[in-house]
Amino acid sequence: MDIKKEQSACKSEPGKPITPQNFRLLEKVNGHWVGRVPTDVPLEFLSLNFRKKNPLRAIRAKCLDCCGGFKAETRKCVATDCALWPFRMGTNPFRKKPVLSEEEKNRRSERLKGRASHATRGSGQAVS
Ligand code: SF4
Repeated sequence: MDIKKEQSACKSEPGKPITPQNFRLLEKVNGHWVGRVPTDVPLEFLSLNFRKKNPLRAIRAKCLDCCGGFKAETRKCVATDCALWPFRMGTNPFRKKPVLSEEEKNRRSERLKGRASHATRGSGQAVS
């Protein structure tokens, strides 16, 4: 069956809307459309919808969706038994920012400058 026929066949199933964007993310199993295992989806199709969503951004987006798009409601969420609750603000509270000494900050800054100038030399662009 070609893609157009598959799409129109799937559209006719209640609760299973299919669009050109998600068509490659689904597969038919025993006559029913189901989500593919993400690692089985070719990266070029997966990237179309999810490239900019790291797991924390995805959780944040889900929590905003859960709260009707209201950031304040996401902040006030009382569903502490929800698995996403600690991450609902788009941050991982289990990974605190390290407190760096001035010496360490300077060392990292110099290292980044070194990387930037190396990358610029490699691309043939002038440093501004
Ligand atoms: S943590 Fe709260 S806002 Fe986020 S999905 Fe769970 S219930 Fe919804």
